[in-house]
Amino acid sequence: MKDFDIGRIRADFPLLRREVNGKPLVYLDNGATTQKPQQVIDAIIHYYQDMNSNVHRGVHYLSQISTDAFEVTRRKVQAFIHAEHEHEIIITKGATDGINLLAQCYGKAFVHAGDEIIISAMEHHSNIVPWQMLCEDKGAVLKVIPMNSDGELDMEQYQALLSPKTKMVAVTYVSNALGTINPIAEIIALAHQNGTPVLVDAAQAVQHLKVDVQALDVDFLVFSGHKMYGPTGVGVLYGKEKWLNAIPPYQGGGDMIKDVTFEKTTYNELPFKFEAGTPNIEAGICLAAAIDYLEEIGLDRIKAYEDDLLAYATEKLLAIEGLKMIGTAEHKSSVLSFVIKGIHPYDVGVILDKLGIAVRTGHHCAQPVMDQYRIPGTIRASLAMYNTREDIDALVAGIERAVKMLL
Ligand code: PMP
Repeated sequence: MKDFDIGRIRADFPLLRREVNGKPLVYLDNGATTQKPQQVIDAIIHYYQDMNSNVHRGVHYLSQISTDAFEVTRRKVQAFIHAEHEHEIIITKGATDGINLLAQCYGKAFVHAGDEIIISAMEHHSNIVPWQMLCEDKGAVLKVIPMNSDGELDMEQYQALLSPKTKMVAVTYVSNALGTINPIAEIIALAHQNGTPVLVDAAQAVQHLKVDVQALDVDFLVFSGHKMYGPTGVGVLYGKEKWLNAIPPYQGGGDMIKDVTFEKTTYNELPFKFEAGTPNIEAGICLAAAIDYLEEIGLDRIKAYEDDLLAYATEKLLAIEGLKMIGTAEHKSSVLSFVIKGIHPYDVGVILDKLGIAVRTGHHCAQPVMDQYRIPGTIRASLAMYNTREDIDALVAGIERAVKMLL
């Protein structure tokens, strides 16, 4: 594809040059985590070699430069998702951490017995269990938007679920198990007509398509650094200022306070109210390098390249006899989930691994999705911007070999 220098991009990722089981690595497990470009690796080394120090505390030079660098990330995230204010960006450990934070804090203030939380049939466990826990605590009820056999949400049913009892709608932007891109703007608009805030799980979205929180008018949004070419152990919870001011903090500790006496503590202002204790400083700082990397290439170009590769892979995989694609929504991003008649997904995964091809097999932390299709799991190939048609050809050849061996 012109305008997309895949050779240069691949050269930025040192791990892609290694062999696995004596074969060149074909890495197709990007939905689980992405590889890191040299720019991010260099930023991590630079942090420890030149600036390691705790943030938001010291008056000394190193503490000031690490604090500044940490706050640079916050501003980069703000621009990356087009938030109105930088204090609307809460640095978390990851998407899971952000959802748990929100469920607990929002729940404490706004959810009571008999209230309802709406999620969808295709959520990752991390956008199911925290809401389930909250519902159990509060005597609230979890409602689920159903989906059809293509893996598309039933929007009529969704509208029917919305009621004065609905206190939160929490939905994924892109499904990690099916690849479906949900009509998130419509979901948000309908919830708002009902007076209900929306959390969007963008863990599988921000690395594949441009996300603009103001254009979407979304109330809360989470994602993880490690799935967007950045470090592990860092993520983001975006929240509209009015909501973040309205909900109490999650954890108590250093950084989140203004004043502490044994009688009473007053909380710090946003965003620090939600950032108790020493964060993952290195990951927080180096997330900026991942954002720079994505923005330098450009999400529009990444999306066009990945969409083309997804179409190519879909066609090639469907040509394999007995292969059934799980997740055939009209709007999809970067995920190919499939089963092969008469073969357990795990067995295919093991043979592919012997060939140096990394895919994921199992329920992909979305067990209810597998239950709906009445399957134990799928084989999932998930794409990143550095994957190529050659990777797909290797996958197809590997599956054909596995089928010959197993059938
Ligand atoms: N939501 C989705 C859609 C995901 O794919 C994942 C990770 N597989 C998560 C949430 C959780 O992300 P993390 O493990 O980085 O917290």
